[in-house]
Amino acid sequence: MARLNSHARDLDRFWQGRILWDSPMSQFSTLKVGGPAEAIISVTNNQELNKLILWLKKHEIGWWIVGRGSNILVPDTGLAGVVIILEGEFRSIEKLMNSSITRKKEKVLIRAGAGCLLPKLVNYCISQNLSGLEFGVGIPGSIGGAIVMNAGAWGYEIGSLVDEVLLMNSNGDIFPEQGRNLGFFYRKWSLPHNMILLSATFSLTPGSKDVIKATCRKYQELRRRNQPVAEPSAGSFFKNPPADSAGRLIEKAGLKGFSVGGAKISEKHANFIVNTGKASAADILHLMQTVQQEVYKRFGIKLEPEVHILGGV
Ligand SMILES: Cc1cc2nc3c(=O)[nH]c(=O)nc-3n(C[C@H](O)[C@H](O)[C@H](O)COP(=O)(O)OP(=O)(O)OC[C@H]3O[C@@H](n4cnc5c(N)ncnc54)[C@H](O)[C@@H]3O)c2cc1C
Repeated sequence: MARLNSHARDLDRFWQGRILWDSPMSQFSTLKVGGPAEAIISVTNNQELNKLILWLKKHEIGWWIVGRGSNILVPDTGLAGVVIILEGEFRSIEKLMNSSITRKKEKVLIRAGAGCLLPKLVNYCISQNLSGLEFGVGIPGSIGGAIVMNAGAWGYEIGSLVDEVLLMNSNGDIFPEQGRNLGFFYRKWSLPHNMILLSATFSLTPGSKDVIKATCRKYQELRRRNQPVAEPSAGSFFKNPPADSAGRLIEKAGLKGFSVGGAKISEKHANFIVNTGKASAADILHLMQTVQQEVYKRFGIKLEPEVHILGGV
């Protein structure tokens, strides 16, 4: 892939909207670390995105889609290429009204854009008396990030609620795909790395507003009690190994409270790496590797990061 700088003037001429040049990715990551991306561009609809993807392909420039940055780690050296943020129409929510399509087995179909915040969709569901997505109330990601990660909590996963999605491939082609063909597994889907999720339709169940609200409150309370919600983090840093918990293993390895520079294993939940204020991405990566080595030494288990390290280690 070519670096962008030799095409920067072309891009400036070609793109009508705002471009953030050499801007730190720490502002787009809940871990609050990450060096500059060559360019950061917000797109507001499918046509704009298609145009941008085709231009980037023509010039062989790499690109990254970033949702709310709540499950990414960007190196201190930053990212070559263009970071794409989905805004405008990508943040919409709509109830599909055509009863012949929407009413299957007392399900209601809700379509949300990939850039819409998951907790915003949960609030919309509360307003419409729809149950299913309550588990997502405290997950601070976008619909795109949540589906790519098959986000889940309290025994539920978002993949099980996806009826259909709209996708764009790296040629800019747009096409629908059934939820059951997305190959959801624990914290991942099975589509190629450069597939972009544009929107998703969820199949939800009519329910009682009071019960839905009470469930959301319960989940929020559990988070406040057990997770360091006020400190910058990316949620659970490692995937749970089969039939075990990464947090339990890290705690048993004696690493709770252990820190490297400004990165620390949370005292509240050992699977959270928090930024105590001045962490660099290198601190977090160093801490990640220390945890992996110690847990492997003690238990023979290799912990795999759940967090996506953009640009590689
Ligand atoms: C406090 C806290 C609590 C959390 N709790 C949970 C939890 O309970 N359960 C859980 O599963 N996760 C949890 N997370 C992690 C995170 O919020 C989820 O994984 C979330 O779904 C990520 O969404 P995002 O928009 O932030 O994705 P990002 O971090 O922006 O991106 C994640 C990956 O998805 C890709 N991506 C994003 N949007 C698109 C798109 N439209 N098309 C294609 N690829 C895309 C990115 O390129 C990247 O590879 C938590 C995080 C925090 C900070």
